[in-house]
Amino acid sequence: MTLVTRRSLRRRPGQASPVTAFVALGSNLDDPPERIRHAFQALAALPGTRVVRTSSLYRNPPVGDPDQPDFVNAVARIETGLGPRELLGELLAIEGAQGRVRDRPNGPRTLDLDLLLYGERTVREPGLTVPHPRMLGRAFVLMPLAEIAPEAIVPGRGAVADLVRNLDTSGMIKLAEK
Ligand code: ADP
Ligand code: MG
Repeated sequence: MTLVTRRSLRRRPGQASPVTAFVALGSNLDDPPERIRHAFQALAALPGTRVVRTSSLYRNPPVGDPDQPDFVNAVARIETGLGPRELLGELLAIEGAQGRVRDRPNGPRTLDLDLLLYGERTVREPGLTVPHPRMLGRAFVLMPLAEIAPEAIVPGRGAVADLVRNLDTSGMIKLAEK
């Protein structure tokens, strides 16, 4: 009989090399820069995952619902052996651990983590769409993404450097430190 532990299942020893994925981070409550830095650390602690690069932090006026504090946004580039569904589960768990409360759409949040890209794969499942369906129109996502990965490809849409060019990024302020 072969003993298969949960840990070895997660690592998937037979799986090909880790996949490069990009995660968007956003916060506008409870000391947002600190929330983002904390989330970078939480990403680095995920099984079979390492954080390769993190963008600067950007301060942005809220989109949609103006009656709330400014957001701080950033993007992390990771390499992971987790599958896209497993990775999303881990992201939602990190949001939960940092006390995220979902009350109204586009409303204030302690921490929002979105899976932007998972290699060049397209995923369309209940509860998981990759590339993230709303990333293309969002300067607060594409600008930090372009800072660390201008060459990254959004499947079917092209390189990030080209996609960010059409967006109005004038409201975004790069914060001095990470
Ligand atoms: P938004 O990030 O668009 O403001 P939410 O974070 O409230 O909205 O959306 C959460 C839900 O979106 C999650 O429960 C998750 O199932 C779903 N979802 C679908 N695709 C993705 C993705 N690529 N990244 C993150 N969440 C996703
Ligand atoms: Mg989200």
